[in-house]
Amino acid sequence: MQTGSMLIRGGTAVVGHTVSRCDLLIQGEHITAIGDLAEAEAETEFDADGLLVLPGAVDTHVHFNDVFMNTVSVHDYYTGTLAAAFGGVTSIVDFSNQVPGGSLAKTLSDKEEEAEGKALIDWGVHPVITEPTDEVLDEIPRVVDEGAPTIKCYMTYREDGLLVEDEDLKRIVVRLTEAGGMLMLHAEDNDMIEENVPRLVSSGKTAPIYHARSKPPEVETEAIRRIIQMARETGGRFFIVHLASDEGLELVRLAREEGLDVTAETCTHYLVFTEQMLEREDGIKWICSPPLRDRLIQDQLWKGLQGGSIAMVTSDDAAYSWQAKLHGIDRFDKCPNGIPGIETRLHLLYSEGVAKGRLSLPRFVEVISTAPARLFGLAPRKGSLTMGADADIVLFDPEARWTMSRERLHMATDWSAYEDIEIMGRIVKVFSRGELIIDADQCLAAGGRGRYLHRRLGPTFRGPK
Ligand SMILES: [Zn+2]
Repeated sequence: MQTGSMLIRGGTAVVGHTVSRCDLLIQGEHITAIGDLAEAEAETEFDADGLLVLPGAVDTHVHFNDVFMNTVSVHDYYTGTLAAAFGGVTSIVDFSNQVPGGSLAKTLSDKEEEAEGKALIDWGVHPVITEPTDEVLDEIPRVVDEGAPTIKCYMTYREDGLLVEDEDLKRIVVRLTEAGGMLMLHAEDNDMIEENVPRLVSSGKTAPIYHARSKPPEVETEAIRRIIQMARETGGRFFIVHLASDEGLELVRLAREEGLDVTAETCTHYLVFTEQMLEREDGIKWICSPPLRDRLIQDQLWKGLQGGSIAMVTSDDAAYSWQAKLHGIDRFDKCPNGIPGIETRLHLLYSEGVAKGRLSLPRFVEVISTAPARLFGLAPRKGSLTMGADADIVLFDPEARWTMSRERLHMATDWSAYEDIEIMGRIVKVFSRGELIIDADQCLAAGGRGRYLHRRLGPTFRGPK
């Protein structure tokens, strides 16, 4: 028997497309055997009878220490990764904005400093280009080599200094694709928003629901249409973050059929909430961009997820304090856009997806874990129960029932968008690289154990799959 060995016995494991009862052997930080291991012995054994054995979730869309709309998100590398771990997330990739006059290299060193001594789970970085100067473009190959091959740009938020024009996006995607990277885009048409917001505000339409009216689905569709044209012109590799429109979804499906390299994700909140939440007195809680949509669009997003036109689901965790959200109480356009959700994704996708018959168990694992790992350069180390992979494992009780509310969660915000939601299934234990970090209601790990994820993308996608 080897020291540092561990057996997880008798659970129902989701391995690729197969769901079967089996044992897992872990040596040190890695999974070393999967199957009927009745003869095997290990230093530590866990009985997983009646439990699902899942790969740790991978969340490639989070905003920690994010300076935005006159505030900063409250999740730092300790509080954010702690909440992530309680939510079964064992890898995150965080956005790092290029600061005015700052280099692209600094986007990586900034996060290294933020994570130092704090990160509980493994973390990676997506640099965000805000000033596409020649010097910054020349830095692209270097950040790709340093393990950050996915760069994001915004097609809106001019006032916040984030907007990048299409001509610059094309220059960026050419350099980035050449270097082996992928351009992630926040797809909303800035001109339409800059026309809609003042028109609504000046006619006294300032309540939260007008946030949704200022950014109707066409705002997203128009930006996606432009992205697809850019993909056609440049042959570049694109990823559309937080897709939330049915027409946009259809455009992405057709673009992929055409053989263009365009992939899309959606986020938990679009699958769980509709814009009706914005009609409530506390509607500012649900102000995010793109905005929440109606039930019909939500149904289409679930269908897109089932059929594969939407590749995966992330949280878009953007945790602003209640005080900051209150900037928008009388003016929807002053409310920092974002919902804290790093902890809730796995539970909600299981409960609303698998338990309600909308997602198969393997597809659920695929959209929260395997696809994010594969598309963002973390596979096969992360995202699946595979021999040799990191032993990032979630033990999950599919029969447990509980009510999700702020008191039961661990996110650092003093409010929650997820209140009084009946949940089917509950995380029992979470392992990160073979270490038990979450045991029921307890976190056993200390900040600082999380490591930088040096990512490298696989071959470009071409054509339908
Ligand atoms: Zn985001």
